[in-house]
Amino acid sequence: MLGLMQKQPLLVSNLLSFAERHHGDSEIVSRRVEGDLHRCTYRDVARRARQLANALDAWGELPGARIGTLAWNGYRHLELYYAAGGSGRVVHTLNPRLHPEQIVWIVNHADDQALFFDLTFLPIVQAICKQCPGVRHWVALTDEEHLPRDTGIPGLLAYESVLAEHGDDYSWPEFDENTACGMCYTSGTTGHPKAVLYSNRSSVLHAYAASLPDVMALSARDVVLPVVPMFHVNAWGIPYSAPLVGAKLVFPGPGLDGKSLYELMESERVTFAAGVPTVWQMLLTHLQTHSLRFSTLQRTVIGGSACPPAMIDTFERDYGVRAMHAWGMTEMSPLGTLATLKSKHDGMDESLKRTLLAKQGRAIFGVDMKIVGDDGRALPHDGQTFGDLYVKGPWVVEGYYRQAGEGPLVNGWFPTGDVATIDEDGYLQITDRSKDVIKSGGEWISSIAIENLAMSHPGVAMAACIGMPHPKWDERPIVVVARRPGSTVSREELLQHYHGKAAKWQVPDDVIFVDAIPLGATGKMLKTRLREQLKDYRWPGA
Ligand code: ADP
Repeated sequence: MLGLMQKQPLLVSNLLSFAERHHGDSEIVSRRVEGDLHRCTYRDVARRARQLANALDAWGELPGARIGTLAWNGYRHLELYYAAGGSGRVVHTLNPRLHPEQIVWIVNHADDQALFFDLTFLPIVQAICKQCPGVRHWVALTDEEHLPRDTGIPGLLAYESVLAEHGDDYSWPEFDENTACGMCYTSGTTGHPKAVLYSNRSSVLHAYAASLPDVMALSARDVVLPVVPMFHVNAWGIPYSAPLVGAKLVFPGPGLDGKSLYELMESERVTFAAGVPTVWQMLLTHLQTHSLRFSTLQRTVIGGSACPPAMIDTFERDYGVRAMHAWGMTEMSPLGTLATLKSKHDGMDESLKRTLLAKQGRAIFGVDMKIVGDDGRALPHDGQTFGDLYVKGPWVVEGYYRQAGEGPLVNGWFPTGDVATIDEDGYLQITDRSKDVIKSGGEWISSIAIENLAMSHPGVAMAACIGMPHPKWDERPIVVVARRPGSTVSREELLQHYHGKAAKWQVPDDVIFVDAIPLGATGKMLKTRLREQLKDYRWPGA
């Protein structure tokens, strides 16, 4: 028997309409490429998104058309999310940090019909436009006054002029909630990137889940700063969750350095911010160097790569900010887990609490997780046994767009490529990316654990642990370290630092100092590049 409740589809347009109706005066503040701080409200964004949807209709873009963006976090990017996704089209966020050749490949693979870009990325667009014949509309996210001339980009338009030509009289269409609304390619650290196609349903469900009290705990009282880019996994869904609760949004635009972020957080009274560890490292260094404090920041979500426990401690101890470790991936919209304590942990020893909170977090309703061994059998959730992590749920990928072959699922589960433990309460700990696992004399060594220990040394800014082929032990770990400015920490000191903190056989055999650890387009350490750089490495004494 079917239930007798209304079958209203879950559509992203409803999120913006809700925010417009009930939080119409909540502010959206954006640092712009033009250099100023722009202020508007959900009411303005909703009106302009409707104007843009009218423009897309007038251009004859069909349902399902891919609308590409090369843009920072800002109100215009938010309008694009909703104008495209809400009208039955797909906002395809491109990562401007990729190589132009890769961007060309992605634009053509996705078959983008329009490309909207911030002026920062004009040189990229000039470099690629001739090789993207499918793109019919090139639009710079600026006004006529700032529109560059003689760019060589065919028919280049100014965004504000496009909007000005269209009224805001537009009704968001109703359609199947499984209709696509967004698209994001994985980073493609191995082979070509793969396209994940989010649906209206998956995005709305993810937005609900992300806002829950044990997850990001978002509310209308929050001032939310997504530092994590809207061009990478929808800024962790914040462009959907913030309107769902009516939170004020603060967009940093291109200003991602510690000073710009700090000033914006203070002037706009930010309460909640989300970003990857490398960005927070820059922010913390800025605070430490200038002896600054946060006056309003309460919580921050840190994820995308392993957050060193030392960073969580610094936020908590030195600044009174709750740093919540989260794990997810492009294929998961992206949220999988987030670390918060349960009430039964209240009386727990402080160091045990810290150990729990340093994990990647516990299961959220909507994401089922299991770990399996080499034989494909499920392993126990005892917090000790580790295995390949599989997930399933309504905002987990089912298949990649335009990828031939069988698709990624194994008996309905998505293999994440991560190796992890899960404990009885569902707390997940990622020990490695499966391709980074180090196997030494038949024992596994977690590269993340070795990196975290190195980064708990005050002289270390960043550390990457990789396995090197070894004549006796198959592989042994070495740690590549970028020192903090002014630090003179030596190889011996660092190796000594491990003693008593890791089993003897887990202590790296060597330390290599570099000026900087190479980072990929999403701010993660590029171990493939490091391995290339170290291909001529010889063991000391060999
Ligand atoms: P990519 O396209 O490189 O896969 P994602 O952002 O989707 O980009 O990366 C997802 C991967 O990032 C995860 O599978 C995991 O390996 C890593 N990751 C994300 N968050 C964390 C975290 N908190 N700790 C450790 N690894 C993480």
